[in-house]
Amino acid sequence: MPRKRPGAIRAARERRPPQWARELLPVDRLSRDTSAAIHLIEHGGHRYGIRPGRTAQLLAGYRTFLRQPGRRLLLVASECPACPGCQYDDLAVARDTLELLAGSLPTAARAELRRLLAALDAEFRRRTLPDPDPSHWLDWSGDPYPWWHRRLYVGG
Ligand SMILES: [Zn+2]
Repeated sequence: MPRKRPGAIRAARERRPPQWARELLPVDRLSRDTSAAIHLIEHGGHRYGIRPGRTAQLLAGYRTFLRQPGRRLLLVASECPACPGCQYDDLAVARDTLELLAGSLPTAARAELRRLLAALDAEFRRRTLPDPDPSHWLDWSGDPYPWWHRRLYVGG
């Protein structure tokens, strides 16, 4: 059997999501098309590790974090970071998953989610403080964490 050409694979990925995905509730303030593309990934089994409803939940959590009163906000580490649900109590971990999701979406949906994230990120950047301790900047393998991890935590 001939292997699929890269163009064919891309075309399949860019195909319009099926009707069932388009009928589910829109995700946050995203369009129906982008929401459908997200539902498709969330229902795609464990391939991305993002279960149905997770994206809406993470975006709502991001908005809740930014709605807190006060000029400056501190990140809060999760009390059980190994737990699939509780790990997202840490906003930086939630942001990791949103990034993973954005990278998995077809072009138009990816662009729309990235625009929405850019607005939230700007506010996050404005109201949190950079973590001055370089020992917090790298993960266990020596790779730098994304910028949203390198902000000050409560007690950090
Ligand atoms: Zn837990």
